[in-house]
Amino acid sequence: MSHSPHIVVIGGGFAGIECVKALRGANARITLIDRQNHHLFQPLLYQVATAALSATSIAAPIREVFAKRKDVSVLMDEVRSIHPEMRAVNLASGRRIEADYIVLAAGLRSVYFGNDEWETHAPSLKSISDAIEIRRKFVSAFEAAELLDDDADRSRQLTFVVIGAGPTGVEMAGAFAELSRKTLRDEYRRFDTSDARVILIEGQDRVLPTYSPGSSEQAKRDLEELGVEVMLNTLVEDMDDMAVTLSDGNRVATSTIVWAAGVAGESIGSTLNSERTKGGKIVVSDDLSVPDHPNIFVAGDIAHVIDPKSNAPVPGVAPAAIQMGRFVGRAIKRELNATRNNRPSPDRSAFVYRDKGSLATIGRNRAVAELAGRRFSGYPAFLLWAIVHIYFLIGYRNRIMTMLQWFWQYVHYDRSARIIPTKSYEFRDKE
Ligand SMILES: Cc1cc2nc3c(=O)[nH]c(=O)nc-3n(C[C@H](O)[C@H](O)[C@H](O)COP(=O)(O)OP(=O)(O)OC[C@H]3O[C@@H](n4cnc5c(N)ncnc54)[C@H](O)[C@@H]3O)c2cc1C
Repeated sequence: MSHSPHIVVIGGGFAGIECVKALRGANARITLIDRQNHHLFQPLLYQVATAALSATSIAAPIREVFAKRKDVSVLMDEVRSIHPEMRAVNLASGRRIEADYIVLAAGLRSVYFGNDEWETHAPSLKSISDAIEIRRKFVSAFEAAELLDDDADRSRQLTFVVIGAGPTGVEMAGAFAELSRKTLRDEYRRFDTSDARVILIEGQDRVLPTYSPGSSEQAKRDLEELGVEVMLNTLVEDMDDMAVTLSDGNRVATSTIVWAAGVAGESIGSTLNSERTKGGKIVVSDDLSVPDHPNIFVAGDIAHVIDPKSNAPVPGVAPAAIQMGRFVGRAIKRELNATRNNRPSPDRSAFVYRDKGSLATIGRNRAVAELAGRRFSGYPAFLLWAIVHIYFLIGYRNRIMTMLQWFWQYVHYDRSARIIPTKSYEFRDKE
């Protein structure tokens, strides 16, 4: 039985993976727990939902990532609670694991602002199965439209509503519009695919509300040129299988609704019994530890920490999660080294976020970028977006597969990941 220190990392997203990487050589036992067996590159999830990429291009089995690290054990399980005083975690499988350090990097979940029943009508985009479900709904709507005779029924099938105009909503709406107007153009005989309506609904007065007004304006122009109907200052009041009802009283008949409007900290955070924001993020000290629990750290989207440079909360973006995970891993490693050498623990430093800028793509050759106080758009921003995303993908295989699929798509407008899995018994009754 080994007596080396034990570190439990909850979550194999950007923060968890970087934390474990930074712990290389810490002479510790590390247990990485995730309820999924794969790390998911969420920024490209909308490309799976819109048939541009296959799911396997943007995910990597966590076990494979750490196959060569004998100090790392990977468990596919859900952490149900954390016991801060005992420094232990309880798993859905019934196991209880104790640790010297716990790192919570569980990310965010989608929320429907008190309307949980909307989830059945409007899937959000957080996992591969969400992306495949949205893709299935989108592709199936075109197939259903080809079978219909009634114009109103067909028009409902061909109306796609995206709720929330943050980067995910904007990217999704742009991709839906490109798919219907370009990729599918020659494939259906009974209707013109460019008649499909893509509606993007946003409660605030501009798209990409966290970007500068100039980028928002550019993105809105790009979306409208692609054929997206952008509805600003509009809230969703209700929805069902047939339609969404808007705050202006309009009822939009639709077959496909996508929710890109709200996120909150994963519920596991509540078991820490420490201060949380309204959005369920855990308020942490400047060294990312939980107040009064110096050996419990929180990293990534689920952490609420004020950036001393901007005096604003560190944003929930992948580069911030990567930097936090790395920061926590290095801090723990320094402390373990000091203890091993009988030196006093070094003073902990404060986490400082290095803002690498923001990028969002709207469609082919259309993107907005904000870097080091500069704002640009069009092809240069699109190219930069592609390079950055390839660079951050985990694994050479994923990078090469993604580059090849993008190249093919760029040349041919083809989005070949459009297969809808159908069970063999689904048509049996109709024989
Ligand atoms: C659709 C979408 C598009 C995005 N686009 C961009 C973008 O273009 N640029 C950008 O910078 N950022 C983007 N983001 C945000 C970015 O993905 C996040 O900031 C980043 O993933 C946060 O990393 P994380 O490690 O904190 O959490 P995550 O990457 O969400 O990882 C959390 C992990 O914890 C696991 N987990 C959660 N709860 C438990 C539990 N109780 N037990 C066990 N495991 C658990 C989850 O399965 C998951 O693997 C996007 C996010 C989404 C959803």
